[in-house]
Amino acid sequence: MLNASFQITVAELAQLPPDSLAEVAFAGRSNAGKSSAINAITNQKRLAFVSKTPGRTQHLNFFRAGQGRYLVDLPGYGYAKTPMVEQKRWQALVGSYLAGRPQLAGLVLIMDIRHPFTDLDLMLLDWFQASGKPVHILLSKADKLSRNQSLPVLRAAQATLAERGNPGSVQLFSSPKHMGLDEAEAVIRNWLQM
Ligand code: GDP
Repeated sequence: MLNASFQITVAELAQLPPDSLAEVAFAGRSNAGKSSAINAITNQKRLAFVSKTPGRTQHLNFFRAGQGRYLVDLPGYGYAKTPMVEQKRWQALVGSYLAGRPQLAGLVLIMDIRHPFTDLDLMLLDWFQASGKPVHILLSKADKLSRNQSLPVLRAAQATLAERGNPGSVQLFSSPKHMGLDEAEAVIRNWLQM
């Protein structure tokens, strides 16, 4: 388990925490299970749900996970009703954060195992690959499938990364069943060097 506490909500890059040494960001389509995953990994019930508070949905939320170490909850994407002006804001804020933050060590991408690699997921994945920083994919809600159903999706996801020349990693994950927590935590600790 990673101990984390809510720290700071950021609407502009000028507000990023100045004491940060290393950060791991979490991205995903709205409803993919990102908040649940962050809460499970940090063993907190509501930590990441602050990101869903009205008015904070288009912000970066930083959770302090140790000296100079942060987990960064990025706003979800792909919600059909999001106005274009907000989508543009998402691109500007998240895009410049992901492309230009030296402290960013890696990206955890959460995808619902029943709907992996949507167009927006692939766009983000391919675009982020140019940064040379690693991606780790959580195939969330793995409890919704049987083992026989989920293993082929895992293998297909590994193949999708390989086809794109992406050295990233992927795993099965379920927040309510605590499936894959240790594996996810190990990746994050390694990236944060903690
Ligand atoms: P976010 O929009 O990506 O932050 O998604 P949430 O974490 O809010 O989850 C969206 C919905 O999926 C909620 O109803 C969650 O309870 C549910 N959910 C999230 N993760 C899992 C999971 O691993 N298994 C199951 N069965 N449901 C999940």
